[in-house]
Amino acid sequence: MSRRRTRYRVPTRCPTGKVRFRDRIAATLALATIQRQGRADRDKTETRAYRCPTCAGWHLTSQRPRVNR
Ligand SMILES: [Zn+2]
Repeated sequence: MSRRRTRYRVPTRCPTGKVRFRDRIAATLALATIQRQGRADRDKTETRAYRCPTCAGWHLTSQRPRVNR
């Protein structure tokens, strides 16, 4: 009996050069780890995870939904 796994054609790297996570859970876990470290001196902290339409993976972004300048 041989099992065949359907392999997704997901690139291992994203063209954007960002860190890529395989799914939302992995991205959320990484996000929680970063926020736990609490780098108060840094303004740029990843705040949320989003799905990348390019590589079908997940990335973290420090951009906030609302930018008020
Ligand atoms: Zn991507």
